[in-house]
Amino acid sequence: MFKKLKKRILLSSSLALLFISTNVTTSFASYYDGGLYVLNGRLTGNNTVNYYIDSTASSYSTFISNGVNAWYYPRINGTGSYCTPYNNIYFSNTSWTDSEMDFQAKSLPYADYIAVTRFYSYENDANGNDVQVDPDKNNYDFCVVTYNTVIFNDLDSTGNISKQATTSHEIGHVLGFDENNKSGTVMAQSNYRTVPAPAKPDNDSLNKRY
Ligand SMILES: [Zn+2]
Repeated sequence: MFKKLKKRILLSSSLALLFISTNVTTSFASYYDGGLYVLNGRLTGNNTVNYYIDSTASSYSTFISNGVNAWYYPRINGTGSYCTPYNNIYFSNTSWTDSEMDFQAKSLPYADYIAVTRFYSYENDANGNDVQVDPDKNNYDFCVVTYNTVIFNDLDSTGNISKQATTSHEIGHVLGFDENNKSGTVMAQSNYRTVPAPAKPDNDSLNKRY
């Protein structure tokens, strides 16, 4: 039996160490396909990622809905023709208790992070709190994407380092993809990114993993 009820308390009381973030100024040498581990949740069933948009992130709803659509229908270069073969990941906007991907927004004390994605297990610790998961070591059940409003709100609305591209990048983390420094994929850190949305390498990775 899992509980998700304590998550907000956990998030507000601690700034956890395990997260993957979008960093403006530095790059990470990393795997093209991310870690070995993936999102469980509903993916073991119908391959649908349920997502929830907290009221703090409601002004970003368009970026989120465009972001999930972009992962559902990736284009070859993030723009232009659609990728084949199609992937079989679906997304559904749902309630907080049912979601595997929560979006929230707040001012974070990280001067160079646009957004942060954290990974959790449905299992609770002795105090009933959700347990954070290292996605390089274990599968995980749900994620929380936190926009850092201080940085995010200054981004452009379109382009490779935009609000839209950043949102798509964080969704990629939820799907299990790590940072990389290869152009042509939305998972590239912003200073290497040459596409505005998930592209063929991202779709190929998705097809390999789910
Ligand atoms: Zn990132």
